[in-house]
Amino acid sequence: MNKKYDAIIIGAGVIGAAIAFELAKKGYKTLNVDKLPSAGYGSTSGSCAVIRFHYSTPDGVATAREGYYYWINWPEYLEVEDELGLVNFINTGCLVIKTELNQYLKNVMTSLEDLGIDFEELDIEGVQKKFPFLDTRKYFPVKLPDDPDFAEPTGDALGGAIFIPESGYISDPQLSTHNLQRATEARGGRFLFNAEVVAIRQKDGRVAGVTLTDGTRIDASIVVNVAGPHSYIINRMAGVEEGMNIKTRALRQEVCHVSPPDGMDYQKEGVMISDGDIGCYSRPETGNHILVGSEDPACDEREWVDPDNYDRNFSKQWTAQVLREAQRIKGLRVPNQMQGVVDLYDVSDDWIPIYDKSDLAGFYMAVGTSGNQYKNAPVVGAMMAELIDRVEAGHDHDGNPLQFLMKYTGRTFNMGFYSRLREINPDSSFSVVG
Ligand SMILES: Cc1cc2nc3c(=O)[nH]c(=O)nc-3n(C[C@H](O)[C@H](O)[C@H](O)COP(=O)(O)OP(=O)(O)OC[C@H]3O[C@@H](n4cnc5c(N)ncnc54)[C@H](O)[C@@H]3O)c2cc1C
Repeated sequence: MNKKYDAIIIGAGVIGAAIAFELAKKGYKTLNVDKLPSAGYGSTSGSCAVIRFHYSTPDGVATAREGYYYWINWPEYLEVEDELGLVNFINTGCLVIKTELNQYLKNVMTSLEDLGIDFEELDIEGVQKKFPFLDTRKYFPVKLPDDPDFAEPTGDALGGAIFIPESGYISDPQLSTHNLQRATEARGGRFLFNAEVVAIRQKDGRVAGVTLTDGTRIDASIVVNVAGPHSYIINRMAGVEEGMNIKTRALRQEVCHVSPPDGMDYQKEGVMISDGDIGCYSRPETGNHILVGSEDPACDEREWVDPDNYDRNFSKQWTAQVLREAQRIKGLRVPNQMQGVVDLYDVSDDWIPIYDKSDLAGFYMAVGTSGNQYKNAPVVGAMMAELIDRVEAGHDHDGNPLQFLMKYTGRTFNMGFYSRLREINPDSSFSVVG
């Protein structure tokens, strides 16, 4: 293989592959290096692949809206076939529960209106009519199962909800990454698997390439850190972490797969739910299952871990999430056997990602994706490719943040929103909601 490229991308997850595709389209000779055996085998493989819009910041909503269009135009975007097939967008709609925590969705509704995203505001009768299988009582604040008040309603009714029809999920996140790999290869990009980067080399104050475990040196004057939960390790290798105001670390997460109540076909009758009142999100899952993830309620301990050494077994967290979901879905039972996923988020200090350059010339990063950026992968690919191209041509992104023109929504997006130098964003939910 060649030992010299225009750009080396560390990581072949969904975002690393999307950045490679967009750089390859601009004519860069790219190489994705991944220590795992195939594309999308890292945290992307554990992703719930939810496509939704209700971020707590207007910029978060705008990025998700742009990302949505890539997914519904997936074959046109890729312009290639994949021998394994292409992924699908599965449209479930999303019910978002109004809570004190999300300020009864006031800001979210304003952002949705600004972007022309359809939604229906539902009072409690409206929720019951549309989704009769839901218990609409209030349980907030979220509690641990050993709390004597656990599962005791704290009010007769929730504060209402909104329903956003254009939401759903992608059938197979790993396959979507393979799709991007094939699209990149069709543009001349290359992928190297089972290859771990152990050093970032520098020359004359700029990045010069990477070194692998077996001593192989690969040269490039551009290196992009898209290492997911290992992002902080790569940033430390490059010596750029000190220059960042926002940092990243790995957070352990459990996702539960359970059967729906007896007689219910959840793929037909079910809906995606973002439910801060019980601290869970859920959606229909293949095989007539319900997938239940955590919205990181304040009572739960956050498990910051070493991404190379953490417990991959389910724990009492799994049971807590299912018991909470059983407060909302009438007749949901807690199975004896635990099924689902244990994986890691790469969380930034404010749960908003960092899509940026660094203090080392030629070294870029797309990190801190905080459990909520699968949906944005294609638009992040386009943003990062533009950022890299412009900065390499001399643009001062730190002084004058790049204004990125979104191709589908036609909006101009200030990429300073994702800067490593920003102050912690106080409007964030500080959870997976972003
Ligand atoms: C349980 C879970 C549920 C999620 N649900 C959703 C959701 O519903 N919706 C949503 O939008 N987002 C969701 N996310 C977040 C989303 O999946 C991630 O933001 C996205 O997959 C990150 O992609 P990535 O390419 O940045 O990282 P990854 O997929 O983690 O890829 C990073 C790659 O870097 C490689 N790597 C690391 N270090 C090295 C090294 N030294 N040398 C070589 N290779 C290296 C790894 O092997 C890995 O393959 C979820 C995440 C998790 C974990």
